[in-house]
Amino acid sequence: MSRMRPVLLAAAALAAAFLLLALPLPRRPLALSAPGAAAPVARGSFHIHTNRSDGSGSPDDVAAAAARAGLNFIVLTDHGDGTRKPDPPQYRSGVLVIDAVELSTQAGHYIAIGLPQAPYPLRGEARDVAEDVRRLGGFGIVAHPDSAKPALRWHDWEAGFDGMEWLNADTEWRDEQHWHLARALARYAFRPAETLASLLDRPDTTLARWDSLTTRRPVVAVAGADAHARAGWMDDDANGYRRGWFLRIPSYKASFSTFAMRVRLERPLSTDAAADAARIIDALKRGAVYSAVDAIASPADLDFFATGGGGRTGQGERVNQPADPVALTARTNAIGGEMVIRKDGRVLARGPQPELTVETTGEGTYRVEAYLAGGPGEPPIPWIVSNPIYVRGDEWGSAPSPAAEAITITRGIQGGPWHTEKDDASSAQVAQADYPTGPVTFTFRLGDGDRTGQYAALGIGVGKALTERTHLAFRAHASRPMRVSVQARHPATGDRWQRSIYLDTNPRDVITRFADMTPIGSSGTFDPGLADTLLFVVDMTNTAPGTAGTFVLEGLRIER
Ligand SMILES: [Zn+2]
Ligand SMILES: [Zn+2]
Repeated sequence: MSRMRPVLLAAAALAAAFLLLALPLPRRPLALSAPGAAAPVARGSFHIHTNRSDGSGSPDDVAAAAARAGLNFIVLTDHGDGTRKPDPPQYRSGVLVIDAVELSTQAGHYIAIGLPQAPYPLRGEARDVAEDVRRLGGFGIVAHPDSAKPALRWHDWEAGFDGMEWLNADTEWRDEQHWHLARALARYAFRPAETLASLLDRPDTTLARWDSLTTRRPVVAVAGADAHARAGWMDDDANGYRRGWFLRIPSYKASFSTFAMRVRLERPLSTDAAADAARIIDALKRGAVYSAVDAIASPADLDFFATGGGGRTGQGERVNQPADPVALTARTNAIGGEMVIRKDGRVLARGPQPELTVETTGEGTYRVEAYLAGGPGEPPIPWIVSNPIYVRGDEWGSAPSPAAEAITITRGIQGGPWHTEKDDASSAQVAQADYPTGPVTFTFRLGDGDRTGQYAALGIGVGKALTERTHLAFRAHASRPMRVSVQARHPATGDRWQRSIYLDTNPRDVITRFADMTPIGSSGTFDPGLADTLLFVVDMTNTAPGTAGTFVLEGLRIER
């Protein structure tokens, strides 16, 4: 740890230098009266790293800091691939600790909460990871979507994610000028949470993305602390993990005191960790949560509801009679400032706190932002951000059904026979009792040890059979749940395109659309007419080294 000393000394000198400039300290949070006898609210922090990945504190340290910050629950999100069995929910220092995981997809980081141990590594394309998280019963939230660091930004807004961070402290920190950060370091020693809040600006781009998405389907938004209690000099590695020297700032307690999310509950949390975690996760899934910057004013309370259209509707819920008039009411425990009700992202009504009501009819997605005068940010960061109430018809938001395929022309495989491909450390066998129409059984074992590109593939030459066809169709099952990459390869260049598919132990009908295939490496759009080989590849993306298994394909057709 002696390597840390020069860094600490430098930081202290820097802090002292800026202190000499006698900069005013950020304002203390406005002290508000506690809300009345409304439903109990649990306050918690989302997106926290411990020393199990790149944070500096143990889960116990983090829970103790959360207790000092007055939180009721925390969501730990150490980096992983979902194959570590999550810790069961547990009360530590009186704080409910929920163990989640931050997955790395090709489009950015995706936090899965309520996920059981995954049967294979959850990696690869964001759309596939989102699908896996949902199938396994988890709930996924896009992390730091608009990070200043390109490698941490989210790239796939069409993927079927469940939620997103509208605010991420790490993103806010990265977009500040060095001068602001140096000033913050000096002030941090005196008013940590207020100083961190002074670095927040309203994330216009991210909020606009969210507003656009929620005109099409429900998407839950939360504020992510992205707490590591670690600020590095050598900064992040290729995965965006923190490495090298670091300071334990901002502290967990400071992060937790800056902003947090609120879950309104029907009854207070008990001491039954499993039951309490289930209620919190359920509220999160429903979007019955809001975010508040406690370093601006505390305690924070918001009630946002719609009346009419068949009763009272809360955040995350839907009024599904859009023809009826609806009254939207937002109420906080602050006086003055400004409250804004937005419809589909645009300002519908504004007025001072504590209460704003607006009558409306017609479809829309409605949410609230509340501001207090003198709050930090350029543009000012909202003190409170709600989740939406959706006034939408019944069909709205249902997943786009895979276009009912008018299958007209089926072309059998002309090529063949089936063959295998693999790296030196792995093994692969293919068996087909009744060529060319019988089921094809592929048995593999990937090489042990580190992930060094082990793979095993089942292949077949198809000549020009893909020309003017739109998709593959087949029935498949596997000896264990797995994800296999369906690939098409050009003979001349060796370029490949892929779409990964989930295989279950029960046979499933699978359709792989050529239009959904993405290039591996840097090749362009897929042209089926130029590919002459189809491959079903088991590789390091979704399979661990040393894994053995079998899958069976039946009735492979090339269709249009
Ligand atoms: Zn991340
Ligand atoms: Zn993170």
